Amino acid sequence: MKNPEAQQDVSVSQGVRMMFYMMKPNETSFQTPEEVPDYVKKATPFFISFILLELVINWVCKGKPLSRVDDVLTSLSAGILSRLPSLFFRSIEVTSYIYIWENYRFFSLPWDSPWTWYLTFLGVDFAYYWFHRMAHEVNIIWAGHQVHHSSEDYNLSTALRQSVLQLYTSWIFYSPMALFIPPSVYAVHLQFNLLYQFWIHTEIINNLGPLELILNTPSHHRVHHGKNRYCIDKNYGGTLIIWDRIFGTFEAEKERVVYGLTHPINTFDPLRVQFHHLFYIWTSFWATPGFFHKFSVIFKGPGWGPGKPRLGLSEEIPEVTGKEVLFSSSASQLLKIYTVVQFAVMLAFYEETFANTAALSQVTLLLRVLFIILTLTSIGFLLDQRPKAALMETLRCLVILMLYRFGHIKPLVPALSFVFEIFYSICITFWGVRSMKLLATGPGKPK
Ligand SMILES: [Zn+2]
Ligand SMILES: [Zn+2]
Repeated sequence: MKNPEAQQDVSVSQGVRMMFYMMKPNETSFQTPEEVPDYVKKATPFFISFILLELVINWVCKGKPLSRVDDVLTSLSAGILSRLPSLFFRSIEVTSYIYIWENYRFFSLPWDSPWTWYLTFLGVDFAYYWFHRMAHEVNIIWAGHQVHHSSEDYNLSTALRQSVLQLYTSWIFYSPMALFIPPSVYAVHLQFNLLYQFWIHTEIINNLGPLELILNTPSHHRVHHGKNRYCIDKNYGGTLIIWDRIFGTFEAEKERVVYGLTHPINTFDPLRVQFHHLFYIWTSFWATPGFFHKFSVIFKGPGWGPGKPRLGLSEEIPEVTGKEVLFSSSASQLLKIYTVVQFAVMLAFYEETFANTAALSQVTLLLRVLFIILTLTSIGFLLDQRPKAALMETLRCLVILMLYRFGHIKPLVPALSFVFEIFYSICITFWGVRSMKLLATGPGKPK
């Protein structure tokens, strides 16, 4: 097993099965972590196919697509942002684990035994339960995890709405396993545990009968994403729901679930989605008097305040009326189509960057990442109809033309490269004129 690239091939049947954790020990056991395929990267075509399938099923059964462009783009943007650090470093969830394994392990379970494989499946899921529970009960961990809960819709794209910060706290919960479970086995299950949680983000599947007793299902996870009072701090399981049943956090789906944060953030700006709660903690920390109270701001629940219980007061959670209006972009349909086109161009660039990481210098990688962040931010500004959106988009289109001239961006159809240049020249002119007008008349709301 000297060639990791050879191990990277995942067949279509394996690809579908890995989305449901239906893998066998003998096809997913490796001696070293270097040999473990990047299953999450391999899953990209399955993510896209499943999202499109859900869209079609909803369209056929309900007569309209239930996904909203602004919400889906924000979820996909969060997914992309959360993957960018991996261009520069190996995930801290794996590096910290390897460090503990190499320096402090008590004994080594055999990497090629099915017993080790099944024990790790349980161990990763158990650790995930506690990480996830703490992510809802400890404010500083919630600062990362809240990203995943910020969508007011519930569909497969919501699963990809991931946090940039979450990794920096989750590794702690997995580290005890490094005392006896080989890193390669852990690295496999860490990925499958994450992939399993993709398909449960759907409203299409209602009830799975006896499977609901053991597995985390769409119904159980809908409750987890709800802001109805009965849904708060329930159903933390990753693959199995048994942990919630054992530790008293299980709740079955009852009345209609209303999704999202109890205090909506009302923005499609991807950086605000990622970091707004960190700033909230920062301001609360300085505004709260006394050392112990400041400490509590960081380590007690997001709903805590002086004089309240650790997890806050349930009566302070806004009651769901069923008449909630979803936060939507006021951008025109044409502008929404424009953002989808820009997102697609960026996605091709993002995929190409990941495919050629080894061939790119660190400086080039950094500049590419900055361009991706600029694109996602500009799309967020356009959807939010911010006054600075036009100026930002003018600059971004200028950068695209520069990247094109220096050979970093190639049109999908090379013969149409002149169309690419003309299109972005028109964009620069359009957004440039728009931003000049705004400068002349003062901030308003461009349509
Ligand atoms: Zn959660
Ligand atoms: Zn979820």
